[in-house]
Amino acid sequence: MRVRVPAKVNVQLAVGGLRPDGFHGLANIFLAVGLHDTVTASPSETDGVTLSASGPFARRVPLDGTNLAARAARLLAERHGLGEPRVRLHIAKDIPIAGGMAGGSADAAGALVACDALWGTGTPREELLEMCAELGSDVPFSLLGGAALGQGRGELLTPLVTGGAFHWVFAVADGGLSTPAVYRECDRLREEEGTGADVAAVPEPEPSAAVVEALASGDARALAAALTNDLQAAAVSLRPALADTLAAGTAAGALAGIVSGSGPTCAFLTGDAESATAVAEALVASGTCRAAYPATGPAPGATLLG
Ligand code: ATP
Repeated sequence: MRVRVPAKVNVQLAVGGLRPDGFHGLANIFLAVGLHDTVTASPSETDGVTLSASGPFARRVPLDGTNLAARAARLLAERHGLGEPRVRLHIAKDIPIAGGMAGGSADAAGALVACDALWGTGTPREELLEMCAELGSDVPFSLLGGAALGQGRGELLTPLVTGGAFHWVFAVADGGLSTPAVYRECDRLREEEGTGADVAAVPEPEPSAAVVEALASGDARALAAALTNDLQAAAVSLRPALADTLAAGTAAGALAGIVSGSGPTCAFLTGDAESATAVAEALVASGTCRAAYPATGPAPGATLLG
């Protein structure tokens, strides 16, 4: 069973103060984009989950029990009392790893849907969404796709209306950034600025009305003006070269550039498909990124291809 799963970009990422449980409250607007992994589940003779990966980022995919796709398969088997699963999972990986595009989360959602189809377990969507939330805060959105507001740790989702396709370019950096390290840097910068980093010091994150309206209208210029990412300063602080990437994309004609999630992938919003192709070529030529991929959003969530 093959399942196609999208990457995401955060068109708003508002980060609240550090909570006593170590997490941050978020107002998170996700847009799924047409950069995909494909997860294939097939029967296996061997006990457990056997993993393999292909594609430009395959080398860095963990092939042990820590892989989110393997954890998803085990969780589904456990929920249905199937014991130790016997399944082979192949991940065709086109989503950058540790790039702030929720590639691991996409694979988890893909593995749930693929194994559910392979095993004929017919799990209701609500239960699949609950399992997704257990696996990680970005996983439910990978199942849902489209556009959505995420609150709490990002896992409480409200689908949002989109009025058209947005044309993006994703500039992939060499190597990744650890999401927890970027949050720690965000806290450190807040302390350094004297504002403080805990819940008492940082205002409760609120969804941006400007982003919601721009998505609904399909107006790329309005969305470009409204993009925000509270983790951007932290990602750039840890990886100063990202400032050059952002400058190169906007100099090449992008309407706006933003660090995607916790980075280091940079996302550029453009006016149309031709402009996206031109910006991608200019970014590669600038030498400020390893590769640049045009992709449109919204894209559907995890889709069973059969
Ligand atoms: P997010 O945007 O949700 O913060 P990310 O895109 O920055 O995530 P991922 O590509 O999801 O990061 O991977 C983060 C880490 O998770 C990797 O460094 C890797 O060790 C681990 N990981 C576990 N499962 C997977 C998977 N299926 N694909 C990629 N990485 C995985």
